[in-house]
Parts: sequence; structure tokens; C-alpha cells
Amino acid sequence: MSALARIATTILDALLPPRCLACGASVDRQGGLCPACWGGLTFIAPPLCACCGMPFEFAPNGFGASGDVLCGACMAEPPPFARARAVLVYDDGSRPLVLGFKHGDRIHAADAYGAWLARAGSDLLAEADLLVPVPLHRWRLFKRRYNQAALLAQAAGRRAKVPVVPDLLVRRRATPSQGGLDRGGRRRNVKGAFLLKKGTAGRVKDKRIVLVDDVLTTGATLAECARVLLRAGAMRVDVLTLARVVKT
Ligand SMILES: [Zn+2]
Ligand SMILES: [Zn+2]
Repeated sequence: MSALARIATTILDALLPPRCLACGASVDRQGGLCPACWGGLTFIAPPLCACCGMPFEFAPNGFGASGDVLCGACMAEPPPFARARAVLVYDDGSRPLVLGFKHGDRIHAADAYGAWLARAGSDLLAEADLLVPVPLHRWRLFKRRYNQAALLAQAAGRRAKVPVVPDLLVRRRATPSQGGLDRGGRRRNVKGAFLLKKGTAGRVKDKRIVLVDDVLTTGATLAECARVLLRAGAMRVDVLTLARVVKT
């Protein structure tokens, strides 16, 4: 750490004593978690579905031979994005991190999450031309003051040295909450909700793009964003999220 960075860290610690990113207990460094919260996190690790990144409980037959084993859902209906990867299982352990980052102004956590995203998404980021966050509708952005997906994209982009275009996609209508909707309902809910920002088609054509969001639930929102980018000529769209729902 440079002398300047050390001074900056000391000043930050004095202004904002380091707190656990999940529960707020005091910890020894910025961007850390207390041992209890750390122990409650489930980091996603192989074996995974080569497409959607769903972790397999057991390595399926043939896993590792081709390296391209797909889960049943991806075989039945391949999503428009090529690969999705996530850092954490979305569960009781990671929920406080995700919600605190989305609604609780714990935006100082972005740097730590950026490092996690860079690791979980290293294969995707190594081949990416640009990172694009899932946009918020402008009213929601106005109320919340920041887009958590854009902060994650910027933090991951800094780590992986990949350019970020925060406003490439525009949400043209505020979609009602996806909660309580089934797969088909979620898909209809987000259909047509996103647009490419005017005058940006040239930035998308033939590019490998990684979409970034905080949580992948059914993937309906991310799939819809991927469709918009692919229709505009993107060569490939991958997805990187902080957490993902894993059905057990
Ligand atoms: Zn904690
Ligand atoms: Zn899959």
C-alpha cells in the first residue's frame, strides 16, 4: 500500500470506523466481515452449469472431460446470455449484504465486492470488451440516489481493467416487483422494459459484453437485457452478479 493510500485509509477509518458489511459489528479493516457473518456466506464454486453457473451438488458424469456440462434448465431452454457467474448463493447469509448495498447506503462495500466479482468472473472478464450494469428506472434512481448494479460494475471494471458503460441500457418503464411472479410472468413483466441508449449502437456491435447486477433470481431481467444487446449486434453477452438464487 502506498503512503498516500495508507493515509487515506487512516482518515477513512477515523471518519467511518470499519464495520462488518453484513451486521455492522466492528471489524479490523474496511470492507471486511465479522467471523460470524463470513462463516454464514456460501461462495459458489465448481462444479457448475457451464451456462447459467448453477452449482451442482455433485459433479455430474462427464464433468471435467469436456468442461461443458449444462443443467437441465439450460438444456431445455438455453438462456440468451452465454454464461452467468455469481459470487455467492443468495440465502440468509448473503441477503444482508445485498439488501444493505441496495437500500442501506453501504456503498463503501463496493470495492470489496468488486474484488469478489473479479475473482468469480475472471474467465468472463478476461474476454470482455465492456461491462454494462442493469439500469434502474430514473425515478427509482432518483429515490435511491445510486444504482447498486452500476457501483458493482465500476468496482469490478476497476479490478479487471475493463471499461464500464453505466448508461448503455435504459429502463424505459419501471417494472413492478418481480416477487410472486412465476417464470413466464417475470418474462412478460420485463419484456420491452429496456432499450439501448440512443446513439450507442456502435459501442455494442461485435462486442463481448458482461452484464452486471446484484442478484440473479430467475434471470428474466438479465435475459431481457441480453436480448436487447444481442439484437443490437453484440457478439456475446455474459452475466456477472454478486449473488444468485440456487434452488435446492
Ligand atoms: Zn457481521
Ligand atoms: Zn444452467
